[in-house]
Amino acid sequence: MSQKTWDLDARPLGAEWIYPRREKEHKIRKVLLICAHPDDADLLTGGLAMRLRARGHKIKFVSATNGNKGHYKMDPVSLAKRRHDEALKAADHVGADYETLNINDGEVWVNDEQLRRVMRCIREYAPDLIITHRPNDYHRDHRYVGQLVMDASYMLIVPLMYPEYRTPYRDMPVIAYAYDNFDNPPFSPTVILDITDVYEKKAMGCMQHESQLLEWLPYTYSMENTLPEEYDYNKRREIVETLIQYQFSSAMSNFRKLVKAGYPDRKVRQIEVYEICPYGKQPSLKELKELFPGAIYPSKADIEGVTSDIPDLKEQIKDLKKEIKELKVKLGGDKDVPKEAKESKPATKETKVSAKAKEGDKK
Ligand SMILES: [Zn+2]
Repeated sequence: MSQKTWDLDARPLGAEWIYPRREKEHKIRKVLLICAHPDDADLLTGGLAMRLRARGHKIKFVSATNGNKGHYKMDPVSLAKRRHDEALKAADHVGADYETLNINDGEVWVNDEQLRRVMRCIREYAPDLIITHRPNDYHRDHRYVGQLVMDASYMLIVPLMYPEYRTPYRDMPVIAYAYDNFDNPPFSPTVILDITDVYEKKAMGCMQHESQLLEWLPYTYSMENTLPEEYDYNKRREIVETLIQYQFSSAMSNFRKLVKAGYPDRKVRQIEVYEICPYGKQPSLKELKELFPGAIYPSKADIEGVTSDIPDLKEQIKDLKKEIKELKVKLGGDKDVPKEAKESKPATKETKVSAKAKEGDKK
């Protein structure tokens, strides 16, 4: 007799109760998304958050800072209030909780006072999974939030450290890094998640961060006049989607082969990517499947197979340039050799993307 299986991903948000008891008995996981600024978690992890909520898991977005510097014409007090309201609306859209550690924007430091705030937040929520930034990300607040979570990680299970906060752990939670497009060292994906089916909902969540995705970030690209004065939903949506796609454009190109191999029958248009941090619990494949449902989990060999293409391409380009130079010499000297053929280091698409991303600093 065949057993009825339920497509949990197809379940509407908040509708767990209509599913059979057996499906409700799966372990409810708690996931803490600790990012630097109020909009970061929606932008970097919104698709995963929606996928997990649809399965009944609990999500909490945490912004270390109150975001009170990310604007070009608002004062810090009004901006912090506005960003708090935006973050609450975005969290509500996902069905998540929200908290800010209320550090001033641009003032995240790795010190005892801020480590205490991070420790309190993690121990009180006792998550199974924490997602944060890599300590290599572009913005100092991002790097230091990542560092604070790393510094908290082992201390979470040490009851004599910060005894004023209860110590719920004997095992560490799993810790993962959200995607960034910096390559020193390169992002090594443990998880690639197709979010094409929840992408529209993710974009709508990101749209709640009006002060950032529609005002501040366009300003940092000298595009603050792109938004028409009268309310234009489609234009707003277009700007927000462009920013989301820009954030993941290098992931889409760098991991294209892994995505194709992992999802052979799907047209994957939008992804999120995560790397497991070595200092948290190291999850089994079974646990990865629970924490990142519907994802693919490339092995080291898969990743090396893809990245090994890049040196091959570089070698081919070098050989081609050598051949052009020799040909030019044969034809009468190299004075006409194109400038780029003389350069020893070709600029790759990846380095161009990184440089562009560095230009567009955001709060
Ligand atoms: Zn940020």
